[in-house]
Amino acid sequence: MYILKLNFIFPIEFIHLIKWPWCSIIFDISHHVISSGAEAFIKGTKVFPHLSSLYAGSFEENGVRIDRVGNMVSSFEKIEAIKRICKGEGVDLFQDLGLGDYFIQRRRLLIFGDGQTDRSMFRYGLERGSASIGVFEENNKRVYDKTVKQLGNDVVRILPRNYREGSVIDREVKEMLIGLAETSCDMDPDLVYRHGLNQIINPGIKTLVGKHLEDCAYCTKRKGKKFIYR
Ligand SMILES: [Zn+2]
Repeated sequence: MYILKLNFIFPIEFIHLIKWPWCSIIFDISHHVISSGAEAFIKGTKVFPHLSSLYAGSFEENGVRIDRVGNMVSSFEKIEAIKRICKGEGVDLFQDLGLGDYFIQRRRLLIFGDGQTDRSMFRYGLERGSASIGVFEENNKRVYDKTVKQLGNDVVRILPRNYREGSVIDREVKEMLIGLAETSCDMDPDLVYRHGLNQIINPGIKTLVGKHLEDCAYCTKRKGKKFIYR
């Protein structure tokens, strides 16, 4: 499964990503947009009918024209939106769930974003085994450098924003999905994350996770960061 966060304006080529036929054979894929931008814009795109959910800001109209931005989605609300998506419709945000009761397990999320307001969301995912992917305007070195500086600590990938078939994102995301489909790794991703920070208190658990990381190609790959400029 796979969460997609789109920018305010996004390329229509993205449609192809939604329609990977081989993906739907392996995964039950759902597509969600969490955007600081306005709902009205996203609803008007070709992408909208393919979305499973949309969390976005709104405009207020004065009867004649758009008057002002009604509400924006804050970085905190973006995390809430992820929690809601993962827990599933109709489940209270503050209800505790067993792993098997989640609609989408957080280690099966791919989270895309490009800006400062995505940092908390990326970090939330990173700590729980999601793939947090920062994107930047292709061939723009200035934006790439800024993205690395702003988001480098919060993501596992920084990739040029080009969703066409054969593009860098296309290749990287497919590789991640295949990794997810093939792995038999059953280590808790939050333990792996905390092991990397030397934050595990119990010596037995620390050793166990360390031993697992020596043998598990999936965890090693997932932890590794890859920033690609193009
Ligand atoms: Zn593992």
